[in-house]
Amino acid sequence: MSVAHEVQGIGITELAEQYGTPLYLYDGEEITTRFQGLRERLHPALEVFYSLKANPNISICALLHRCGARAEVSSLTELVTARRAGVAPQDIIFLGPGKSRAELAACLDEDIHAVVCESLDELALIDEVAREKSVTARVALRVNPSFSVKGSGLTMGGKPRQFGIDAEQLFAEGAELAARHPAVRLMGVQVYLGTRILGEDTVVENTRRILDLAERVSAHLGFPLETVDVGGGLGIAYFDNEKDLDVAELTARLNPVIDAFAVRHPGTRMIMELGRFLVATAGTYVTRVRYTKTSMGENFAVTDGGTNHHMAAVGIGSYVKRNFPIVALERRDEPTTETWHITGPLCTPNDVVGKKVPMPRLRAGELVGVERSGAYGPTASPVHFLSHGYPAEVLVLDGRAHLVRERDDVEAMLGRQRLYVSPGAEHHDPQH
Ligand SMILES: *Cc1c(COP(=O)(O)O)cnc(C)c1O
Repeated sequence: MSVAHEVQGIGITELAEQYGTPLYLYDGEEITTRFQGLRERLHPALEVFYSLKANPNISICALLHRCGARAEVSSLTELVTARRAGVAPQDIIFLGPGKSRAELAACLDEDIHAVVCESLDELALIDEVAREKSVTARVALRVNPSFSVKGSGLTMGGKPRQFGIDAEQLFAEGAELAARHPAVRLMGVQVYLGTRILGEDTVVENTRRILDLAERVSAHLGFPLETVDVGGGLGIAYFDNEKDLDVAELTARLNPVIDAFAVRHPGTRMIMELGRFLVATAGTYVTRVRYTKTSMGENFAVTDGGTNHHMAAVGIGSYVKRNFPIVALERRDEPTTETWHITGPLCTPNDVVGKKVPMPRLRAGELVGVERSGAYGPTASPVHFLSHGYPAEVLVLDGRAHLVRERDDVEAMLGRQRLYVSPGAEHHDPQH
């Protein structure tokens, strides 16, 4: 986030007062800058699709669309979100291992660019749904390669996985695969190898191998490669020992690989899917300290929001807790002379947002922020735990703050429940 105590000139203190805490605060300028910084350097043939999973807020999606991003969606609501955010059907792909018949039907009704198929069973269902509708479904095959590449936080390929179809199984098929599914037009290949990749070389090597695999799969199965989706999984640095990707260096090495492929396949659409990389740095989870206390010699700040809104802060793919960047938002310039546990309102010892965080002496009432939290925040957290509900989300855009999601209130939480046991019923105690 830009300057010390403000976002685009608006004080965080004022924003917290106006919208209340806990609050997710997004800096639209950071999202725009980040997208454009990548777009300017990236080979023009490689299209950027925003993975809504990372942050499904419709205004975030619309902002990225305004910047030129397309959309990669994985549920009916994400599909509708992308459409309402203005993304054209031909710029949407739908993937996910467990799509429902209704979701597949919606893909065909909307006539999106491609359904990314993750199993042979699903291929049969797509064919069936398309036949019922008398349409032809454009389908890209998600391939689970027999290789995996080191350097990813969470590997999604090269292992037994629910995602994609094993390359080996596809190579055991032939042209009859398409023939068995007359309402399907195989037209693309997608491979996603993992998330939180921080090595430029890893991205380049992944891409090279995916492009090669896509060529071989399409040639073997006998369909024209109209689209190839090289996944993405570009990471951002969260912890002290991590370093952000160098976009200039990354694109300098990646672009020649893209170019060589584009020259050989001038008609092929090339896609990269990005979630975290585009939105993570723009978000701050803003909480207010409710109580400070010491326990057995250690400092605790109990804030009004915790892991119910920010599960990732508990730790990502690691047994040792590593802290997100956490700061006293109104006193960033003060020396951090003490260490504090930052905990939330949940009645579980796991509700620890930060452990032994270097801080000035914290006081009740002040704001504590978890930075780099624009991706996999509330959407990937148990927001219903203890019935606290979803936090508010505010997007600062062109110098103005906008509430882009209201926080859940009691009615939002209870409104979908049904009370079938009369609250007025007498309690009959057999002992009296
Ligand atoms: C989650 C996911 C993404 C987005 O991942 P990021 O690491 O947030 O960029 C893209 N593609 C697929 C298939 C995914 O499952």
